[in-house]
Amino acid sequence: MRPQCLFPLFALVTSLPGVGPRLAPLYERLAGGKVVDLLWHLPSGVIDRRFSPKVAEAPDGKVATLVLRVDTHFPSDSPKRPYRVRLADETGFLHLVFFHGREDWLRRQLPEGETRVISGVVERFNTEIQITHPDHIVPLAQQDEVMTVEPVYPLTAGLTGRLITKSVKAALAKAPDLPEWQDSAWLARQHWPSWHQALEAVHAPADEFAAGQDTPARRRLAFDELLANQLALAMVRAQMRRLKGRSVCGDGRLRQEILAALPFSLTGAQTRSLGEIDADMAAPIRMLRLLQGDVGSGKTVVALLAMISAVEIGAQAAMMAPTEILARQHFATIAPLAEAAGLRLALLTGRDKGKPRERILAALAEGEVDILLGTHALFQEDVAFKNLALAVIDEQHRFGVHQRLELAAKGTAVDMLVMTATPIPRTLLLTAYGDMDVSRLDEKPPGRKPVDTRVVPLARLDEMAAAVGRAIAGGARVYWVCPLVEESETSDLAAAEQRHHHLTGLFGDRIGLIHGRMKPTAKDAVMEKFAAGELDVLVATTVIEVGVDVPAATVMVIEHAERFGLAQLHQLRGRVGRGDKDSRCLLLYGHPLGEVAKARLEIMRATEDGFAIAEEDLRLRGGGEVLGTRQSGVPEFRLADLTLHGELLAAARDDAALILGRDPDLQTPRGESLRVLLYLFECDAAVRTLRSG
Ligand code: ADP
Ligand code: MG
Repeated sequence: MRPQCLFPLFALVTSLPGVGPRLAPLYERLAGGKVVDLLWHLPSGVIDRRFSPKVAEAPDGKVATLVLRVDTHFPSDSPKRPYRVRLADETGFLHLVFFHGREDWLRRQLPEGETRVISGVVERFNTEIQITHPDHIVPLAQQDEVMTVEPVYPLTAGLTGRLITKSVKAALAKAPDLPEWQDSAWLARQHWPSWHQALEAVHAPADEFAAGQDTPARRRLAFDELLANQLALAMVRAQMRRLKGRSVCGDGRLRQEILAALPFSLTGAQTRSLGEIDADMAAPIRMLRLLQGDVGSGKTVVALLAMISAVEIGAQAAMMAPTEILARQHFATIAPLAEAAGLRLALLTGRDKGKPRERILAALAEGEVDILLGTHALFQEDVAFKNLALAVIDEQHRFGVHQRLELAAKGTAVDMLVMTATPIPRTLLLTAYGDMDVSRLDEKPPGRKPVDTRVVPLARLDEMAAAVGRAIAGGARVYWVCPLVEESETSDLAAAEQRHHHLTGLFGDRIGLIHGRMKPTAKDAVMEKFAAGELDVLVATTVIEVGVDVPAATVMVIEHAERFGLAQLHQLRGRVGRGDKDSRCLLLYGHPLGEVAKARLEIMRATEDGFAIAEEDLRLRGGGEVLGTRQSGVPEFRLADLTLHGELLAAARDDAALILGRDPDLQTPRGESLRVLLYLFECDAAVRTLRSG
């Protein structure tokens, strides 16, 4: 249960003065719907209002705070003309300019003959001096409140800086003094303030520099967030380790038969990864391992050989794919090999219903199925294994800590192997999979030819289409990827349907279309036609991204490549270059293309190493923005920026290990405080793993 001291922070933003039901959705979109989200909404800069010149010496284009006497109002005589108010000091006069200004309100704010403190950007046109829509108009008594360094917050349409500043202040007022969860010696060494002081400091930066990211206060908050993340992962890991495990150690007999039936020998990376998996499975603890390997690096075979170990001891294995198409593809790949070794294989997807499904379930419960392949349907409530020893999860996106815990509860002592083709940079890997051991397939099977990648402006589309036409005439099979399904009025995104129509006009009817809104059976049908060579071109939205294997495809065209994440582009390109023919990838980009976007596409052209691409993407764009990582389970940090705070992550990881080594159930006074930290960063699931939670 969340501790009571945090209740005010987890109240809705509407609990703050001035935030009603009309504004709440705007806050929600900008920062989040809870008070605590406003604490994490950090200023991006400052406005210094301490400069207070006389009118005559107020410089053009600078923010200034002036003390002025209100002279005369000049209400607007047409909607196109602004409302003007003349004010003066002893050195001269200036005008305040209001577009669509309301007279009654302005006369109340600026009564003629009285003195007001005005703050805003001074503009000079020849002899005219003016301030358009001043930020502050207050009586002289409030001069000190205005002449400060004001934080500037990121905004969203409908919310003004003044509103946000006020609500953040109100949120800060609700922030309690929390017990210190950081080690005091470490805090002293880093010269870091307490949590509360740090919060106050980041929301009251003294200057532009202090609003930057690397102040002690900011680093402290970043470390808090990273420590919560690493501690939570370490606790999940500890929980997995506590659960009973079993030693799965096959005699290698079936594995030999499979290896003999394979038309190739394993790569060094495959052999090494399999060795790591074997060691985990043989140990009497639960395996929780991530197998990370580029598209085409051969993860499926490694998974199959691992599953064989389970079968060799008379137990069962299951492998889950994220889509129907992939589950079927795995089945098609594995079935002939399984047959060679006399294995009993079954496929279970959401499409299996009624009698056939019952038959599979019965066989599974009787132990008459050795390996079950399928989709999420594998882990439905009524699916019972006789003796499940290994669960493999392929290409798993959005697979959070919760699901890992749920899955582990499915069988007794089930080893778990998670496979991902998203190349995740090492630093991010730690934040998403810090609870897992990692094996990397960093070597491609031999004989792969490089994919010739070109970066081309969309303006040359006709030329590229003609080249594709020639390739088709030469027998090539082509993927053509578009970012959206239907052209919407508001966007100029290339539409798959329109492109399909266009290409059919050019090349005839051997053009297929596949997109996310189609029924699974319809998708499979199109995919199968493409694989069988009945279609030359497959126009697709990103549904083909995940894993589909058509070795005969040699051309990949991606429209508006600049709109995709690098990880995604890399995945898409991985669909070609799988056979023995030369392959090409055309990255078509729209204008205008910024410097970073240009650099990103250039990386794609220069290398096919997914890990290198991911590291570069992280460097160019920063941790929160690496596209394609959102689906891969990498958390988005609010306070930590891994391009800046990478070394803090390593420290947080070490600290988490140390903490759990000494106080596994977080029962010491520091442990109690750390529980508060975990709740503060919404790691509730992790706290529930504690025996005395
Ligand atoms: P991934 O799932 O990692 O994207 P796959 O397991 O689908 O890759 O393998 C891609 C292709 O490479 C498959 O056709 C597979 O048979 C082949 N393959 C796997 N390992 C090897 C190897 N060691 N040598 C040659 N080909 C291999
Ligand atoms: Mg695969």
